[in-house]
Amino acid sequence: MRSGERLRVTLLAGGVGGAKMAEGLAAVEDIKLSIIGNIADDEAFHGLWVSPDIDTLTYSLAGMIDRVQGWGVADEGKRALDTLSMLGQETWMTLGDRDFGLHIYRTMRRNQGDRPFIIARDVARAFGIKAAIVLPTDDIVQTQVQTDAGWLSFQQYFVREQCAPDVRGVRFEGIETARPTLEALKAILTADVIVLAPSNPLVSIAPILEIPGIGEAVKAATAHKIAVSPFIAGKVVKGPADRMMASMGMRADALGVAQRYQSFVDQLVIDNEDATLAADIAALGVDPVCYPILMKDQTDKARLASEIMAEARKTLDAGGRA
Ligand code: GDP
Ligand code: CA
Repeated sequence: MRSGERLRVTLLAGGVGGAKMAEGLAAVEDIKLSIIGNIADDEAFHGLWVSPDIDTLTYSLAGMIDRVQGWGVADEGKRALDTLSMLGQETWMTLGDRDFGLHIYRTMRRNQGDRPFIIARDVARAFGIKAAIVLPTDDIVQTQVQTDAGWLSFQQYFVREQCAPDVRGVRFEGIETARPTLEALKAILTADVIVLAPSNPLVSIAPILEIPGIGEAVKAATAHKIAVSPFIAGKVVKGPADRMMASMGMRADALGVAQRYQSFVDQLVIDNEDATLAADIAALGVDPVCYPILMKDQTDKARLASEIMAEARKTLDAGGRA
């Protein structure tokens, strides 16, 4: 650990679960936080480029988020969407009036040829966010979900179909040729601690790690690597990760998460309720640590984040890193 310097913490995050962890870490003093978000949920609606997971991170860290639904801007109107509906457009993707302003700005900057990384950084700064929101790539990668009715874009599956279809497979269109941003590689390779948020392993964390160079950098990084389970007592807090993991032949619990991350994580934070899985997780070579991991409010988020940092500091101090 660099004495006298703030610890560099890099979080890999999806949307709602990712943003909760990001808010917790943002409340920890004496760290320098970078958040690598998922861009594979991005899709164009009404000619505008929408980036749902990056927006959830941005609105959460800016204190603008709708806390009840966990995404979108609080006290939001739907008048722009009403107009589009009158004009015969499909409006299943909920985009609020204030929210539209951000999508207009993002699309305008992209059309001017600006790097998506720079646009996301500028938005975060303009919204007063201190942490760095880092895009893993400037290229377009889009998650698609295979169902019995064929391949759907992630938002068609998640929002329009409300995760009802069984998932037979997942692919990340464009990922083979996507190039990682230098800023994401730097955030990974210079980190003292890498945290994997309790985000969906299959459609939030995987499309970050599978960008060529990103997963390799995480493996090669000397940081302490600690993941948080999105499963508590065999259930997800929200979303389709349990059904997705089960239908793709994986265990849908904290042990399944450990199996997925075992080749590169040092520790997995599991809930106290999952303490019975600790021995099996340890047998994979992943050190299990038990805490309450349900984040209902800001206090829960900050407490979990400081526990994660305390675990990381123990290892960094013991390792005597210079
Ligand atoms: P999405 O992109 O909005 O789907 O969000 P993420 O992929 O970042 O997060 C979804 C995951 O977050 C789900 O699998 C949830 O189980 C998990 N999650 C949500 N809230 C919490 C929480 O308070 N604690 C934990 N441990 N996991 C959570
Ligand atoms: Ca997402």
